[in-house]
Amino acid sequence: MDYATYIKSDKWKRKKSAFWRAHPKVCRSCGSKESLHLHHATYDRLGDERFEDLVPLCDSCHIALHQMHKDFEDLSLQEFANEFLAMNRSKQEPEILTQRQLNRLANDKKIRARKKIKAWRK
Ligand SMILES: [Zn+2]
Ligand SMILES: [Zn+2]
Repeated sequence: MDYATYIKSDKWKRKKSAFWRAHPKVCRSCGSKESLHLHHATYDRLGDERFEDLVPLCDSCHIALHQMHKDFEDLSLQEFANEFLAMNRSKQEPEILTQRQLNRLANDKKIRARKKIKAWRK
């Protein structure tokens, strides 16, 4: 089943309601409780997702995630989303990376992705 067909199916509706029964209705990126979507962290198990494959995101965070990812196509959507969610604005303090953490990342692309996400979050 392709994505467009699946997303309209009863199977997906049941999956979604089961997910929401088990998880708080809060955007995992900004804490918003409005216009929530379930982002697929991976499409590998489309139709047979595990709950950990699904990430609650509000409309604006979800759109921003996919839009920004277009500039970082050498990162997988999953890698980019991990960076995106690591810089979670709903945390009390913004995450500030130490030089040691940056060195450990040792990946210019991820650092550029973080800069872009950070600028968007301002
Ligand atoms: Zn959000
Ligand atoms: Zn998505």
